[in-house]
Amino acid sequence: MAPDKFCPGSTNVRTPTPESVTCLNCGDEVEIWTDEPKATCPSCGHNVFREQAPTCIDWCKFARQCIGDEAYERLKEGKIGGVQNH
Ligand SMILES: [Zn+2]
Repeated sequence: MAPDKFCPGSTNVRTPTPESVTCLNCGDEVEIWTDEPKATCPSCGHNVFREQAPTCIDWCKFARQCIGDEAYERLKEGKIGGVQNH
């Protein structure tokens, strides 16, 4: 009922905004949405990860309910899977 009971750490996922991250490989700016753990650099194809402190999603046992199954799985996959070279 009360939407503001969600913890602040999940705001980035619930209301995604684009963040500019510098590609470590070519130095280009890459946009990563805050509900995505990483993006692919459009210039060089390098995987760019968002610099982020551990969020409540990493440790909060209610994270799954808080942000939803889909977003939870997506973020966890990005962290656990690490860098996947194709
Ligand atoms: Zn790049």
